[in-house]
Amino acid sequence: MAQGKIKVDSENIFPIIKKFLYSDHEIFLRELISNAVDASQKLKAMSSLGEVKGDLGDLTIEVKLDKKKKTISIIDKGIGMTEDEVKKYINQIAFSGAEEFVEKYKDKTDGTNIIGHFGLGFYSSFMVAANVEIRTKSHKDEPAVMWECDGSPNFKIKKSDKSDRGTEVILHIADDSTEFLEDSRIDGLLKKYCKFMQVPIKFGTKDEHKEVPTGKKDKDGKEETKSEKYTVDNIINNPEPAWTKSPASLKDEDYNNFYRELYPMNFEEPLFHIHLNVDYPFNLTGILYFPKLQNTLEVQKDRIQLYSNQVYVTDSVEGIVPDFLTLLKGVLDSPDIPLNVSRSYLQSDSNVKKISNHIMKKVADKLEEMFKDNREDFEKKWDDIRIFMEYGMLSEDKFFERAEKFALYKTTDSEYLTFEELKKKIDKTQKNKDKSVVCLYSNNIDDQHAYIEAAKDKGYQVLLMDTPLTAHFVQKLEQKHDKFTFARVDADTIDKLIEKDEKIPSKLSEKEEEALKPVFEGVVNKEKFSVQFESLSESDNPITITQPEFMRRMSDMNKVGGGGGMFMGNMPDMYNLVVNSNHPLVGKILQEKDEEKKKNLAKQAADLAMLSQNMLKGESLTKFIKRSIELID
Ligand code: ADP
Repeated sequence: MAQGKIKVDSENIFPIIKKFLYSDHEIFLRELISNAVDASQKLKAMSSLGEVKGDLGDLTIEVKLDKKKKTISIIDKGIGMTEDEVKKYINQIAFSGAEEFVEKYKDKTDGTNIIGHFGLGFYSSFMVAANVEIRTKSHKDEPAVMWECDGSPNFKIKKSDKSDRGTEVILHIADDSTEFLEDSRIDGLLKKYCKFMQVPIKFGTKDEHKEVPTGKKDKDGKEETKSEKYTVDNIINNPEPAWTKSPASLKDEDYNNFYRELYPMNFEEPLFHIHLNVDYPFNLTGILYFPKLQNTLEVQKDRIQLYSNQVYVTDSVEGIVPDFLTLLKGVLDSPDIPLNVSRSYLQSDSNVKKISNHIMKKVADKLEEMFKDNREDFEKKWDDIRIFMEYGMLSEDKFFERAEKFALYKTTDSEYLTFEELKKKIDKTQKNKDKSVVCLYSNNIDDQHAYIEAAKDKGYQVLLMDTPLTAHFVQKLEQKHDKFTFARVDADTIDKLIEKDEKIPSKLSEKEEEALKPVFEGVVNKEKFSVQFESLSESDNPITITQPEFMRRMSDMNKVGGGGGMFMGNMPDMYNLVVNSNHPLVGKILQEKDEEKKKNLAKQAADLAMLSQNMLKGESLTKFIKRSIELID
């Protein structure tokens, strides 16, 4: 038996590790199983090179819990270690690695700075164990050894009676970590971190049932069967997940099955997928799925999972891929993404940038291909990916440029147009006085029905743009396209939004308008409404309520954050009460001699306009109904 002292400056590294990795104790299991997988893979590689002779046998890794002894064991049948190797790899390298780590991060106690998923390796077992034993026998013909350490720099090493090849790591769980002695806890961790590791991993057994013949026949002469229970190894992982296979060997169904494997609690089918496969200048594989997004930017429950050589790393990929791509689901696997660095460092890492750009390009390629190959089908999917597209086009200029060719704009009649097609349609007909093309849009077909109808009656196109990003998105489009403006259908009266060559002459004189103005001002809230006269057609409504595009857009933008930095906080809602000077009802109000009747008529007309805007509520609505009944009488 030999004894020694591990060369570490800190007298007891155990409490330091505990402190630094507090929130992430559970990763010890991933680290130890990764080591077991590596040892098995190394053995396979050596065998294929002829360096290890004979049949390797079953390489399944086993995880065992012993509640009485308070131990967790991880047992592999990999290459194992000789005594010299234990001294070299476990004593020196493992501890010096840990020391380096502590040195690097000692000033960064703020856990958020560290990605939280780095390979501390074997040493992380001391986060949960008071005592760790290794029993190992190398594939080389050398005696087995046992190593033991309690987290202090003191270790023991002696001969072991282990007779089969491989390594067994036994953790004597510390009193503050007994949660890891629960089957369900370990099962959960294995499913989280080891679901797609490359070597089968066994955790206990499970019961299955099969139908076996009883030897008897039933009254119809058919063979009778009965259900028989049998026990099988509980293998928790799939060593060959879909993303590691060649796309040519997979059908849509295989991709959908893999989606369910990734997100067992999600019952919705993805819309489509992208299989990534790059090996130069960086290594990246993965499958990204487009879920149905339904117009929300809510944080996704099932997020993209990042792997490194099939070892789960994290499901928070912000900083690694552009934000808008985090709306997607699926897996990314790249050993080239540095994991033991802070997020701010990640964003400036050139490999990470390349990977991120590559993914963005592939996403654009796929969308463009779908648009070109089958526009009809692409249109069917559009509503579900629109918010994703808007988010991407808003936040990444490179994506904007690509997406401009195939991004669609839906009209209120459910026609889908590309920007070019839209422009062609409205280029000549929809202009305002500064000669910009005016693109009308609605964010709610029901609420703005009257306005949409008025615009359509005049032969104009109205787009349906109703995502939470609409205000920002139209702003972006205006920036990108000179002489192209957006106006919501209720931003002004149509005749004001879109200039016509010939003007309708007003039936009211300036004096008459002056006389009428206070009448209308008397029936609405003066702070909120500004009364204006406009010379519209007789068939237009007598009174319309509009809200200036600029004001409304700013307040919409503030609602989702970032109003272009122009206004912060809530802006008061301001409206125009537009009186159609050519409408007979307006003429009638002007002629009315009885002041009370005059006021009532004006109030009724203004309330009708409010009603069509869904703005008439509470007491005002009750009064309106009462007044209407009296008028009918
Ligand atoms: P890393 O895995 O990052 O190299 P570790 O501290 O986890 O660091 O392990 C140090 C070394 O110990 C490994 O590189 C490997 O050579 C050896 N080792 C650890 N676990 C095993 C195992 N189960 N079987 C064989 N060798 C192992």
